[in-house]
Amino acid sequence: MIRPVIKKVGSAIAALLLLSGCSGGDPGEIDNERLLLAQEYPESWLMVGGGYDEQHYSRLALINASNVADLAPAWVAEFDVYRGQEGEPLVVDGIVYLVTAWSKVHALDGASGKLLWSYDPKVPGEWGAKGCCDVVSRGLAYFEGKVYLGAYDGRLIAIDAKTGQEQWSVNTIDRTKKYTITGAPRVFKGKVVIGNGGAEYPTRGYVTAYDAQNGHKVWRFYTVPGDPDVQDGEASDEALERLARPTWFGEDYWKNGGGGTAWDAIVYDRELDRLYIGTGNGAPHNHYVRSQGKGDNLFLSSIVAVDPDTGEYIWHYQVNPGESWDYTAVQPIVLADLRIDGKIRKVLMQAPKNGFFYVIDRETGKPISAQPFVENPRWASRIDQATWRPVENPGARYIDAPFINMPGPPGAHNWQPMAFSPDTGLVYLPTSTNAQRMKASVESTHASPDVANLGDLPVPENFLQAWDPVRNEMRWKVPVEGYRTDTGGGGVLATAGNLVFQGRGEITGEFLAIAADSGKVLWRTETPNQIMAAPVTYMINGEQYVLVAMGAGGPSLLWGSAQAPRERQPTRLVAFKLGGKAVLPEPPPFAGPAAPPVEQFSNALVTKGEELYSTNCSRCHGRPIERASNILPDLRRSSYLADRNAWNMVLIDGVLSDLGMVSFSDKISREDAEAIRAYVGRRSQDLARAQAAGISERPSRGR
Ligand code: CA
Repeated sequence: MIRPVIKKVGSAIAALLLLSGCSGGDPGEIDNERLLLAQEYPESWLMVGGGYDEQHYSRLALINASNVADLAPAWVAEFDVYRGQEGEPLVVDGIVYLVTAWSKVHALDGASGKLLWSYDPKVPGEWGAKGCCDVVSRGLAYFEGKVYLGAYDGRLIAIDAKTGQEQWSVNTIDRTKKYTITGAPRVFKGKVVIGNGGAEYPTRGYVTAYDAQNGHKVWRFYTVPGDPDVQDGEASDEALERLARPTWFGEDYWKNGGGGTAWDAIVYDRELDRLYIGTGNGAPHNHYVRSQGKGDNLFLSSIVAVDPDTGEYIWHYQVNPGESWDYTAVQPIVLADLRIDGKIRKVLMQAPKNGFFYVIDRETGKPISAQPFVENPRWASRIDQATWRPVENPGARYIDAPFINMPGPPGAHNWQPMAFSPDTGLVYLPTSTNAQRMKASVESTHASPDVANLGDLPVPENFLQAWDPVRNEMRWKVPVEGYRTDTGGGGVLATAGNLVFQGRGEITGEFLAIAADSGKVLWRTETPNQIMAAPVTYMINGEQYVLVAMGAGGPSLLWGSAQAPRERQPTRLVAFKLGGKAVLPEPPPFAGPAAPPVEQFSNALVTKGEELYSTNCSRCHGRPIERASNILPDLRRSSYLADRNAWNMVLIDGVLSDLGMVSFSDKISREDAEAIRAYVGRRSQDLARAQAAGISERPSRGR
């Protein structure tokens, strides 16, 4: 059992740590012992979440509620990517390691921001089309002089932390399937573990542990059963046959993969020596299609505890039996000791997509509480306190009729890390009440959002809330307003300075410091980029820094923007400190003129094109096109639009596939491509007229 070395680190103790050589030393010193004590050495940020408990909490308090008004940029670094930035940096003895879009890794000097090295795994551009939600990565791991990267195309790569040279690389996936890696690897006991994403497609979820030194596979745990006639020969075999397979129905469930991909939370419990894996939604989404509407479909939408040495099953808790709403339980898992009914309990906490906040006894896997953290989730009235199963509302499974669900597939909370402060006992949780109409689609076998009818859906409320996990109530909330994204802002950092840091935005953004106890906004600055990633904090030479990466994209590409489109801008990393002297760049200019074709298209062709655009293009280019953010190109402004042949070369021949715009020839014909051009062309002509008349493009708020 690990006991904290320091209760709280003020400036004096932090300075002592610096003098004793805990900072600026050899990166090779980060061994197992040091990782176990990560939270006790807060001048570094050694792993995702700041320590194995993944609380996203720092004991540093030099920057605190009384002086945070003096916070200002110390340095700004820019990178060669223009896509979503979800990656949380690591800081190891003064060196910052960041993963950006396209899985590129950079090392920088933490005091100056000077670039030390860069590593590009050269993810093939066409792999961008395999993921649901942009070519993002959420973080790295560090151990004994190596930086570990889960590359978007499914490779796990070890990089020399001093030189940026690749040490080893292993393929972790079936490359013929639509697997991607967006989550951070985790290191424990000399092993590095990684999962994957892809359950929007026919994939089967699993996590794999490798030897951190050489990349040799140690064990694999599949989260759902596969072909009944084929033995996996993996750690999960016994649990899948005994517990999981009897909960699946039909001849074909395994042919569609089943889903359950573990694309974010994999947390090591240093006290109980266990690993907790959060698993994803079913594939296909609809339980009725996937498993004849029968069975719990273990281990979808579950937290599974396994032995970290062997991968063998210990316990599981399923948050959504018979999952049917794209409800995942991959959301960040936080470990803590909580005093509940006068007893200290070792708990894990999770706020998954479904809108209920779970406090689970991590010794037994039994829930202690499960209360809604949004008002009146539509799919279920409550979690039964005897069985710990949800009490679903009539019609929620959208079998006979469409059902407007809240939370929708984006979730009441998604991947954005929440923070837990042991000082206040509160969890700081990005929250959204987004709703979506679910309807069964026989052809696609997926639940499909009914995009044509978004008009009468309730307008979501997005906010950061402080949630009391013992009394199960909200203490305060800070609204996230003026954006169209379905999140309550970006990831969160809490500190011993009675502070909570969070970024927001859509195309441009803002960065806030909030009093952890009261929810009062104490400091705020506009940022040129949207912020989604969690901030971190560290110390060098007696100064505390708050570091946050920024770059728009990710799942919000799907919804377009309430802000007017702008020219593209690079991903940035910004370090703030008290009295910093750097200046944030201005946001880029508004996007340029429309590039309409000269032809007049028939209304019939435009209407056909609108449908095809909605199905094939809107996920990345704006839904509807009037909301295009131009983070991925606003097609109304595309230089390819005016020319039928050029348009076909992109959509059908795939000439831009290196950039991630693959050929759609397997989904649409050349005639279809022309219909899409007619629709986009018409909207481009509208835009050109509005621009000529001097009408502002800034769309109104809301949806
Ligand atoms: Ca999903």
